[in-house]
Amino acid sequence: MSAIQALPGTKDILPDESGLWQRLEATARTILQRAAFRELRTPIFERTDLFARGIGEATDVVGKEMYTFVDRGDRSLTLRPEGTAGAVRAFIEHKLHASGSVQRLWYCGPMFRYERPQAGRQRQFHQIGAELLGSGSPRADVEAIAVAVELLEELGLKSLRLALNSVGDRDDRARYRQQLVDFLTPHAADLDEDSRDRLSRNPLRILDSKDAKTQDICADAPKLIDALGPESAARFERVQQGLTDLGIAYALDHRLVRGLDYYTHTAFEIQSDDLGAQATVCGGGRYDGLVAELGGPETAAVGWAIGMERLILLLQQMAAPVAPAVDVYLVSRGEAAEQKALAVAQQLRRSGLTVEMDLTGSAFGKQFKRADRSGARACVILGDEEAKTDTAQIKWLADGSQIAVDRAELVEAIAKLDAGLDP
Ligand code: ATP
Ligand code: MG
Repeated sequence: MSAIQALPGTKDILPDESGLWQRLEATARTILQRAAFRELRTPIFERTDLFARGIGEATDVVGKEMYTFVDRGDRSLTLRPEGTAGAVRAFIEHKLHASGSVQRLWYCGPMFRYERPQAGRQRQFHQIGAELLGSGSPRADVEAIAVAVELLEELGLKSLRLALNSVGDRDDRARYRQQLVDFLTPHAADLDEDSRDRLSRNPLRILDSKDAKTQDICADAPKLIDALGPESAARFERVQQGLTDLGIAYALDHRLVRGLDYYTHTAFEIQSDDLGAQATVCGGGRYDGLVAELGGPETAAVGWAIGMERLILLLQQMAAPVAPAVDVYLVSRGEAAEQKALAVAQQLRRSGLTVEMDLTGSAFGKQFKRADRSGARACVILGDEEAKTDTAQIKWLADGSQIAVDRAELVEAIAKLDAGLDP
């Protein structure tokens, strides 16, 4: 019978790799908690309407990429393609706005999009995201961006670029949208197919088309930043000043529009030169319209999401993963000794040591070989004699020295050896 394999675009994170994921998650938790962000965990699936309304029908995500299905209760459900819509739904549903203060939320977990799988692009992928709800101050934009930058720096990632733009408010965008359509319509025949389609549905997205000819045409298009009203322009200035004050370098990118409809004002991406085509590790911006769009009170908000697979690719380029070391390799042979080994392993583990127990019952020589390969500092040995006298042998693997100790003194003896003392 042929074995079943994982689906295209999904990936197992094997033990050799999961250490890196754990490091990434632990670092994110630390950095976000330091900035007073609190974790929110929302369901993996939601009503399809939430994403259709919250992300926008005209986006690629809703139009082409969602995992949508009808459940046994005849509801249309969708596996979450991103985290913001669910976070905002929870924010409204549980009236987190009622506290009156700013809510800083973060999340981490799998997202699902039906895309063409390739390096850095999967169908089930993972994001870490942060949302700051309840402040329209440009300082909130700066804080949100600074936290993302801090996280990436804490991970030791280098050669990242912050690209920044403002998409203005609704009026600015409506004005700009018209300018752009007027400019692009005479070139419609030369645009790529997707972009031609977007001309009526989502013209701003044409700006980030990857098609070379479309890009050429867009090079001369009017710029969003020139269409901003005086308030939006002043606001954008303050965001830039805030970043400069923190020493965060950025470059303006006039074509940066983000794919989702609810973004207002600040839009940003953090990109890496070391990822080939899938260069964006973090995308975010302000979405002042979303909470009201989803039935909540008018609430200004800003947030971002980091693609974890892409970060892992970068971390893997930096250094080989280090396997977490085992402290003690536990060798036993003979029925009584093998039985006792279970209790010894428990005793050592309760003292905080990491213990790998050999379960093979094979000859001592073979078990010792595995002890050497395990990377443990100490090999604890139980044979018939040790089982009878309630003792154990400790073999210090660095120099091969061996001593016998009472079982009750095992932990203490290992601690002394660790400290370079005679037990
Ligand atoms: P892209 O232009 O790469 O498709 P996006 O604009 O669709 O990105 P967002 O919705 O902003 O991406 O998601 C934020 C981040 O999540 C991205 O910058 C990326 O790092 C990651 N990401 C998005 N889609 C995928 C995917 N299919 N596989 C892996 N990571 C992804
Ligand atoms: Mg995408």
